[in-house]
Amino acid sequence: MPPPERAATLMPHPHPTGDIPTFTSNLAKTIAQPCTVNVDSPQTDLFGRPLRDLRISVTDRCNLRCTYCMPREVFGPDHAFLPRSLILSYEEIARLTSIFVRLGTQKIRLTGGEPLLRKDLPNLVAQLAQQHPSTDLALTTNGILLHQEAARLHQAGLRRITVSLDALNPETFRRMSDSHGNPSDVLQGIHTAAVLGFSPVKINTVVRKSINENEILPIALRFNQPNFHVRFIEYMDVGNSNGWRLDEVVSAQRILEILQPLNLVPIPAAYPGEVATHYRTPTGAVIGVISSVTRPFCSNCTRARLTSDGRLFTCLFGNNSIDLRSPLRSGYSDEALAELIATTWNARSDRYSEQRFQADPNQPKPEMSVLGG
Ligand code: SAM
Ligand code: SF4
Ligand code: SF4
Repeated sequence: MPPPERAATLMPHPHPTGDIPTFTSNLAKTIAQPCTVNVDSPQTDLFGRPLRDLRISVTDRCNLRCTYCMPREVFGPDHAFLPRSLILSYEEIARLTSIFVRLGTQKIRLTGGEPLLRKDLPNLVAQLAQQHPSTDLALTTNGILLHQEAARLHQAGLRRITVSLDALNPETFRRMSDSHGNPSDVLQGIHTAAVLGFSPVKINTVVRKSINENEILPIALRFNQPNFHVRFIEYMDVGNSNGWRLDEVVSAQRILEILQPLNLVPIPAAYPGEVATHYRTPTGAVIGVISSVTRPFCSNCTRARLTSDGRLFTCLFGNNSIDLRSPLRSGYSDEALAELIATTWNARSDRYSEQRFQADPNQPKPEMSVLGG
């Protein structure tokens, strides 16, 4: 594997108020002082990165146990998942989402754990789609339950979907997902989504060396049609439970070598902050490669993450979070919540992937199933 390349070095932008707010929330201060932030304007962080995307995890539970995400040794029968009382209701999620939109968020992605395990998810989709018709609303799912849920999701207003699929071969699928799941269920869900008119249907494939490397070409060929968009993802060191090792990462460069028979043509980035490098096949499919390890993209990272219990994270690898649920449930106004979120984002300086190889490998990091990818 080649040595990791570094993205353009980030230079801090001066904070709009001249000083740098503390990262942790100071609830008393937020209540007592008049609002100092214009909460109806787009917010940027210390490096000038806007708060453009919000990923909302609706549950920490999952029906698979992908070894790179929820290894069974850690997420076994005794694992304590969040009790219902601590999980944000759909009304609470919708209220927070409206505040993020006021602060400049243009893209919302529902995720998990496995989001389709959350009861009546289409109700949340309908609420968000109606409240924010010009916002790009999407869902990431492992696809196991997609066939039965796709029509209700579509009817609720969802038009964009990403389905994770690491292998077509049933044996390899089970090895990656440590489950009795069947890729044919996921394929049926993908097919149903495509027939219903989801466009494009995106497929996410995490690649692990010597496990599903040989699935790269079959997956790309299987979805080599105009309505599909496959993204191959470098295996990342998210959380502390997957025992990540650099030598298990298949680099984006290697993935592209494997894809050579498809005669890929590079496509320019559609918008700043796009995480994947994209290519088009001669038959019109789009293939993306997400190189978070070998070619980090922190300088364009505009994503905030809201966990199902209402914590806001500003980085996939950041251990710092602020609790939005307590202020939400203790009567904060929208303005006070907006100021809390804005000052947190304004103070953001995360760029873990650029610093990965200097970081302490034992530093505590949130788990992907909690943050939602
Ligand atoms: N359960 C849903 C799914 O799998 O699509 C949504 C949540 S999952 C955490 C979101 C995405 O994160 C999936 O596409 C998954 O493959 C990816 N992911 C999880 N752990 C990862 C890791 N260690 N490295 C790279 N991608 C990972
Ligand atoms: Fe579940 Fe998705 Fe994590 Fe796999 S990647 S264990 S499907 S949350
Ligand atoms: Fe964004 Fe953090 Fe990932 Fe960098 S490491 S791209 S800041 S989530």
